[in-house]
Amino acid sequence: MKIICIGRNYTDHIKELANEKPTDPVIFLKPDTAILLKGQPFFIPDFSNDVHHEVEILVKISRVGKHIDKKFAHKYYNEIGLGIDFTARDLQQKLKDKGLPWEKAKAFDGAALVGKWLPKSDFESVDAINFSLEKNDSVVQQGTTSLMLWKIDELIEYVSKYFTLKIGDIIFTGTPSGVAKVEANDELRGLIENNEMFKLTIK
Ligand code: ZN
Repeated sequence: MKIICIGRNYTDHIKELANEKPTDPVIFLKPDTAILLKGQPFFIPDFSNDVHHEVEILVKISRVGKHIDKKFAHKYYNEIGLGIDFTARDLQQKLKDKGLPWEKAKAFDGAALVGKWLPKSDFESVDAINFSLEKNDSVVQQGTTSLMLWKIDELIEYVSKYFTLKIGDIIFTGTPSGVAKVEANDELRGLIENNEMFKLTIK
């Protein structure tokens, strides 16, 4: 399976990193080795002093497809999840400055936390899902999919022009504002509406 991540999909987060608003979705991939194993803590890697949390709504692909029209995109996923796109921000900045790919900063082992899944049918609309991240019991990131620049079905249309989507692939749909550094002993907890989707310790 593969993980397809969308960057810069919320205006407030684009502003906080002083990035340009993209004319097309920004896409990058993580390999399956980036998935943090269930029940494991996240270990801050020794090549970074500034690993950030980015909480994101996840979509699990349930059907093989290519060149999917957004009208039919809803047929290609049945489950919605929540995860963290861990990002070595210091390393990413160096790579960005040189115009190099971001993979070392975003695709390293453990850089993709995938929480629990909820059936899509639990939601009246996938374009109005509220989610949040708590760090040590305070809310640090809060988002709603209604504020995505590209909605889930549009992302599936766009991504599937380039990559065949396969069963089990996961799309990370971008983070709202509030990204910040994680420190050893931080406790992170992710919620969709009032459902706890993951709980994690930083080491
Ligand atoms: Zn992200």
